[in-house]
Amino acid sequence: MLIEYLYPQRKQKMPDTEKCPLCNRELAEPIVRHHLIPPSKGGKDSPTVPMHKICQAKVHAVFTETELKTYYHTVDRLKEHEDIAKFIKWVSKKELEFFDTTIKKN
Ligand SMILES: [Zn+2]
Repeated sequence: MLIEYLYPQRKQKMPDTEKCPLCNRELAEPIVRHHLIPPSKGGKDSPTVPMHKICQAKVHAVFTETELKTYYHTVDRLKEHEDIAKFIKWVSKKELEFFDTTIKKN
């Protein structure tokens, strides 16, 4: 379902290298599905995008679920935020598998 959403013309074949929509690096485990609208805010059936676990952790550290629902429900909007822009710069120098357990909610 996810792939059909992202690549409607390519149902049969996954793209060779799938990239994280947030940091634009290749995906590597740990990978999570990020709901563009938080499930707790009625987004249970909203589209999900695959992301590095660390990228999703950062999103949830910066935004409240209400903010995610009301405005930051596209990846482009997430990237508009200064903290996310800084994070993308920072994480781009890390290993693809890097996950920092110190990223927590504020
Ligand atoms: Zn990422």
